[in-house]
This record gives sequence, C-alpha cells and structure tokens, in this order.
Amino acid sequence: MNAMIYLDHAATTAVRPEVLEAMIPYFKENYGNPSSIYDFASISKTAIRNARAQVASLMGAQERDIYFTGGGSEADNWAIKCSAEAYAHRGRHIITSKIEHHAVLHTCQYLERHGFSVTYLTPDEMGLITPRALRAALRPDTILVSIMTANNEIGTIEPIRELGLICRQQQILFHTDAVQALGQIPLDVDRMNVDLLSASAHKLMGPKGVGCLYIRPGVTIGPLIHGGAQERHRRAGTENVPGIVGFGKAAQLAAADMDTRTRRERELRDYFIRSVLARIPYCRLNGSPSRRLPGNVNFSFSFVEGESLLIMLDMEGICASSGSACTSGSVDPSHVLTAIGLPEEAARGSIRFTLGEDNTREEIDFVVSRLEAIISRLRSMSPAYAQRQSAPKSAE
Ligand SMILES: *Cc1c(COP(=O)(O)O)cnc(C)c1O
Repeated sequence: MNAMIYLDHAATTAVRPEVLEAMIPYFKENYGNPSSIYDFASISKTAIRNARAQVASLMGAQERDIYFTGGGSEADNWAIKCSAEAYAHRGRHIITSKIEHHAVLHTCQYLERHGFSVTYLTPDEMGLITPRALRAALRPDTILVSIMTANNEIGTIEPIRELGLICRQQQILFHTDAVQALGQIPLDVDRMNVDLLSASAHKLMGPKGVGCLYIRPGVTIGPLIHGGAQERHRRAGTENVPGIVGFGKAAQLAAADMDTRTRRERELRDYFIRSVLARIPYCRLNGSPSRRLPGNVNFSFSFVEGESLLIMLDMEGICASSGSACTSGSVDPSHVLTAIGLPEEAARGSIRFTLGEDNTREEIDFVVSRLEAIISRLRSMSPAYAQRQSAPKSAE
C-alpha cells in the first residue's frame, strides 16, 4: 500500500466536492461585495443569508444569532475577550478547564495579564469536567465560564447541558468551544444552555479560515474586529463570501448524513480500539470509552516516544498526530494528557488517530499491523523495555 492514509481529521478535513462546487461561483461570476447597493451585490448577500440559515440549523439556533468569523480561534478570542470586557463591571473572575484548546487557554492567560483572574478546572481521569467541580469554583465575581463541548485530543464529550444550567441559574455567561463537536454530535444551543458557541468550517469538511460565533440575544458583547458595519456591526471586514457559502453547504451536508456517517465512524473507531488493545501489549486508551467523539482514538504506548512513532508512521504514509508540542527543541507532553493525570512517560508515548467518513477497515487493518511492527522495533531499542522484559513477571 503506498496511498496516504489520513487519520488526522481533528486537525483538518478535506473539503467535500459539493462544498467546493457551491463555493466556485462566488470566486468567479458572483464576486460582488455584499455591502454594495446595486443588484449584483444582492446575489452575495442572499448567499450569506442562506449559509447563515444552514449553519444556524445545525446547532438549533436562530439565523440572526450567527456571526461569521475567520475561524474557530477568532470565535474563541472574541467570545472570551469581549465578554470579559463587557461584563468586567460585575466581576473579573473567569472559569475554564485545563484541557481547552490553546485558542481558549492562551486567551485566558492574556486576560490574566490584564487584571482578570482565571480558574482552570481539572478534569477527571476520563477528561470530564464535572458539574460538581464547576460549582465548587464559582465565586460571586465570576462572569464567564468557558468549557469545550468535546475535546480535540482525547475526544471526551463534556456534560455541557448540566454545566450550562449551573451558569444559567447563577446568571453567569457560558461559552463553549464546539469546534470538534459540530457535525459530529447533535447540538442545540437552547438544550445546551449556552450563551456563546464557537465553530469552525474546516473541521466538518468545509473550507479553512471561516467559522462562526453564536451569540444569544441579550448578550451584549462588542466586536473583536472593528471597522465596517458587516455582521450587524459585530464583525467588521468584507465577508469571505465563498468561505461562508462553503461553511453553509458543509453544515447542510453534515446535518443530512450525521446519523449514518457517525455510526460508521463509531464502529470503525471501536474496531480500531479493540484491535490495538488485543494486539499491542503495554497500551492504554486515553479518554472515555463511551462519552467519546465518533472518530477519536487516542492511545498511550509504554516504552515508546510518540514523536518517533509519528515519524515512522509517516514513512508508511500514515498521517496521525501527537498532542505534544515541540517547543525550543524539547518535546512537551500534551497539556490535556497531563491534566487527566497521565504520568509524563505515558503522555509522551501517546498518539491520536481521528477518523473520517472515507476511512475503511482495510486501512485500519494496515495501520494496526504497521503499529505493531513499529512499536516492537522501537521497544527493541528501549533500555527500559529490556529491563521490564527481564524482570520477573508481576500481575499487570
Ligand atoms: C481546530 C480547533 C480550534 C481552532 O479552529 P480554527 O478554525 O483552526 O482557528 C479551536 N478549538 C478546537 C477544539 C479545535 O479543534
């Protein structure tokens, strides 16, 4: 097999052919600026309205509450920075979790440098943020809670509805980063009790560089990007019309096939997990077996460096990811795996595979057989593994 096997759909996805088809006219003949007053521009304006309805529908929102952005990171920055600014007169305390995306974590750290105090909740060993942990962290001056709908590394789906209810009862704003969840699990902003929700098109087979923020009516946050009157004065800048159209189409298609697509992904995911656990010793599944995104698989392999494993998989044409980040020459273990209590060695030996609709059982079989071979090779070079093998057998 020499074709590439792409198992990194949490990083990004290919645009669906129908999405590309829908976008092309807005690069070519329908290039009008939606803000212009002549009739030609109204084609672009109508296209945006249509896309807004498609995106709103995928999360049970009203069209008028969807604001298009330049992606998920922008939506997270906007929600958090502008809530902090708008509600600072009530208090300066924010609650989030240790396992958020860096678009949330680094924004919170920025606010800490500007007079806000932030509590970073520790998840349980499955990656769950419990309602109890949230309740215990609330303060009279808490103005905002931001907890992701589903985690991008370990796939854990958070009890958003319960967390949102606590915030609602205390009249505290509740934001959720739903970038990984949109199009993967059913979402409804009312049922979830959220006031602000971030999404991004390229994680659901739409284009890169476009996303949105849902803002509940009555939430008075101002714009992050100042300038023109676009997006009802809340997000300046000439609209990315082809991108927005692509996001709309991707949302419509994701809604239409969510049941069948995610059922297939779940089956393939569980097959992958069973195969690896059965064939590769000293291995554990990270995250929750049940409250898990349909396409997410995350393993820790003892006596192996995740980075070495990734490089060797890449040589076989297999694209996967490790949560760790290379900073200044050293590899830092993932903040998510550290937060769920994995020892550093296990966090370093971990790897994430995220499935998409085109992956097959044959691909998974190939990946598992390559994993088995590569891990056994890497372990044969590990002094710690040799020591373990020669030690008297103890109960695992
Ligand atoms: C990808 C991702 C983002 C960032 O979205 P972009 O559109 O790439 O800026 C934010 N949060 C989560 C959970 C993500 O997976």
